[in-house]
Amino acid sequence: MTYSYDPANIFARIMRGEIPNKTVLETAHTLAFHDIHPQAPFHVLVIPKGAYVTFDDFARRASAEELVDFHRAAARVCDMAGEGGYRCITNAGMHGMQEVPHYHLHILGGRIMGRLVEQA
Ligand code: 5GP
Repeated sequence: MTYSYDPANIFARIMRGEIPNKTVLETAHTLAFHDIHPQAPFHVLVIPKGAYVTFDDFARRASAEELVDFHRAAARVCDMAGEGGYRCITNAGMHGMQEVPHYHLHILGGRIMGRLVEQA
């Protein structure tokens, strides 16, 4: 996929402080906050502060420092999901039905998540 980053996307606006959020964790390169429409008792979004559109965009272009910071922060959010475990989801593009074009990892927990994907 090819990407151009839209700085008007909602998560960029959250990071600029234009829209409030319920932050659970912030590090040098990463922000984690509650999803506004939670799909499970625990539903937190983890985003890099840098301008990346999708998982593969981030994995390809981010610095080693950003990559480590992001994944260590995500692991701390996984701990917050509790002992029952969690599911990580990231959507990309049209087929992935990505709504916000700034890379984010959904971390969901607090209930059994069901099957991996819906049948089309
Ligand atoms: P996507 O479909 O792009 O993977 O997921 C985007 C997620 O962002 C959705 O789960 C949606 O509820 C969440 N979201 C959209 N707008 C906002 C917002 O303004 N604040 C927060 N906290 N979450 C949002």
